[in-house]
Amino acid sequence: MSKGVRLRGAVLDALVVEARREPDRECCGLLAGRGGVISVVLPARNSLASATAYEIEPAELFALFRRMREERLDHLGIYHSHPQGDNAPSARDLERAFYPDAAFFIIAPRPDAPRPVRAFRIANGRAVELAIETI
Ligand SMILES: [Zn+2]
Repeated sequence: MSKGVRLRGAVLDALVVEARREPDRECCGLLAGRGGVISVVLPARNSLASATAYEIEPAELFALFRRMREERLDHLGIYHSHPQGDNAPSARDLERAFYPDAAFFIIAPRPDAPRPVRAFRIANGRAVELAIETI
């Protein structure tokens, strides 16, 4: 299992912008790319409109997966923000990580966050932090 995740630098910036756009609720979406490198951010609506949880509606998720297929992109990650807290996986994140092969990104939108973007691999309720490599 890989201990790192590769992405375009623009993706990192886009995630922080996305998280700061809605400082009072968790933002969320999928990440896609080719050759194992994340290059595309696919924002989704947080149907819970919550500051402490997120959910993407099945119909929207289906549309995003169809778009990736049509554009020949691989699903490589999923992201959401933690507007109020630390950007480590919450108990709910560990419980509800449905993509064991995807990198799980958590963004801290606060300007004083020491590491605004962190990535994890989550499987069987356990998280392993991934090194983020921008290329
Ligand atoms: Zn979370």
